[in-house]
Amino acid sequence: MHAWPASEVPALPGQGRDLRIHDTATGGLLTLAPGPVARVYVCGITPYDATHMGHAATYNAFDLVQRVWLDTKRQVQYVQNVTDVDDPLLERAIRDGEDWTALAERETALFREDMTALRMLPPAHYVGAVEAIPRIVPLVERLRDLGATYEIDGDHYFSVEADPHFGEVSGLDAEAMRLLSAERGGDPERPGKKNPVDPMLWMAAREGEPSWDGGSLGQGRPGWHIECVAIALEHLGMGFDVQGGGSDLAFPHHEMGASHAQVATGEHPFARAYVHAGMVALDGEKMSKSKGNLVFVSRLRRDGVDPAAIRLALLAHHYRADWEWTDQTLPEAEARLGRWRSAVSRPDGPAADGLLTEIREALAEDLDSPAALAAVDRWAERQEVEGGTDTGAPGLVSRAVDALLGVAL
Ligand code: ZN
Repeated sequence: MHAWPASEVPALPGQGRDLRIHDTATGGLLTLAPGPVARVYVCGITPYDATHMGHAATYNAFDLVQRVWLDTKRQVQYVQNVTDVDDPLLERAIRDGEDWTALAERETALFREDMTALRMLPPAHYVGAVEAIPRIVPLVERLRDLGATYEIDGDHYFSVEADPHFGEVSGLDAEAMRLLSAERGGDPERPGKKNPVDPMLWMAAREGEPSWDGGSLGQGRPGWHIECVAIALEHLGMGFDVQGGGSDLAFPHHEMGASHAQVATGEHPFARAYVHAGMVALDGEKMSKSKGNLVFVSRLRRDGVDPAAIRLALLAHHYRADWEWTDQTLPEAEARLGRWRSAVSRPDGPAADGLLTEIREALAEDLDSPAALAAVDRWAERQEVEGGTDTGAPGLVSRAVDALLGVAL
């Protein structure tokens, strides 16, 4: 499917340094040294509801990853999926008496609008689960032919025992895995399973649910983890640089995806770094569809909020932190946006070469966007208090904030 339009990334003098980023699998910071084309896969939405601030914070983090890489003069191959058939989507469509494809198309269109408004760089390949089925089926067949699957009533399961590296992404013990599996879409209690956390690869057709021709697997639909693996292997291949998503994807989604890919290809690792963004809370609870405590990007936009202020609200928090959206979050971001716009609207100002270096250093060090914002704040403060005579400075600040932070001043 098509993605969304790209906002231009202004050219900056010099170049940034290689990104050091926190890898969940090793639990520490890694300096990534991608080739001339850096490769990143970010798990996309299940389109049954609008984009909330938790999603936006995740996509903001991986947008920064790309901006740091682009600033090292690399190209970026960015791939994202849309889980456009899955249980939550079908359940919502039934609840609302709506056709599930119409629901998925409407919410995906709204997501594109939100991403465009927030100046998130679009993926080169934006792929739906449904359109990936012709790649998913042979991949599951391959896992089966390698002896890594088993069947329960026509449903094909992946046996985690098939991957000697299973468990390396999340580093969790068996009991923690079992609990998270139950919480996050797995079926650890189902009789007949070899390991309670074994995930479904291909679900046999259910009465009243959509299904597709699965060749030798039978009529059915794909599991969630194998969807991302098929899409990533097609467009990125093994050993790509960053597998990204929210921290709630580390297990089971990214753990299972890595195992599927490693068993299917016989290679390791699936990704060089597994990078996870923190959760956003509202009223003390994680923002989630199931709890209904959501702040939607589209609703704020409809209320006339400048998307640049929403973006600044996201950037004010470190991507790995869990943080809370409060009544103060947006007014603070709007005030900062106002100060910055006023500072760059003057014909001259304090020299900004040092500021550019500070923003680059902050982002290259595990995407420290709060430090980058603080550096811009200091420049804007000096502009306000002392001013300056550098006629190139306001333009340079404006371009740097746009290119590296995705905020148009
Ligand atoms: Zn995924």
